[in-house]
Amino acid sequence: QSFETFGLSPEIVKALTRLRYFKPTAVQETVIPLALERQDVLVESQTGSGKTVAFGIPLCEQVEWEENKPQALILVPTRELALQVKNDLMNIGRLKRIKVTAVFGKASFKTQKSELKQKSHIVVGTPGRMLEHLREGTLVVDEVSSLVLDEADEMLNMGFIDQVEDIIEHLPTERQTMLFSATMPPKIEELASFYMSPDRASVK
Ligand code: AMP
Repeated sequence: QSFETFGLSPEIVKALTRLRYFKPTAVQETVIPLALERQDVLVESQTGSGKTVAFGIPLCEQVEWEENKPQALILVPTRELALQVKNDLMNIGRLKRIKVTAVFGKASFKTQKSELKQKSHIVVGTPGRMLEHLREGTLVVDEVSSLVLDEADEMLNMGFIDQVEDIIEHLPTERQTMLFSATMPPKIEELASFYMSPDRASVK
């Protein structure tokens, strides 16, 4: 199977070819078609499975360039992962000129604030700093229609779960939610049943 079978836009297909991604990984093969149909997905997958591209392609497909407010949020446990996800999504969305902003702690709030003031289609960040931007009004979420929780079990282990829930409570309820986790402890299952559609797909 190739990426073309998903009916992706030419800009995305071309970007994937440039990145030398020729064949979807197992998780991509399952998740991409579901996510393109805007289904909620709960995915048990490890780092290295290609999960970033699995949610990155559908998000980049969904972005409407003309809309200036953020359309997708991605919550991650660490600053390193935030930068990596930003980089991967910029590469996938490059030919659509998709803007991705990363926000995380121990870095200038002001710099992030001015970046968020520019066009930001997708915002990726750690829960604490994301919540700060929400509370300060520097992050506007009324046009957010997709949420990704990446490495959800790590966010739980690092004690970010209350902040994650607080952020979700601010988001429009009419949205797509994708949750990725290497393990599925009861608290993550609970989070999924509380904040995701009962029709969500579970992928292993
Ligand atoms: P991840 O699981 O998101 O951390 O991705 C693991 C690695 O696989 C990253 O270095 C990606 O660049 C790479 N990768 C993701 N999807 C593909 C693909 N379809 N073909 C080849 N490499 C890929």
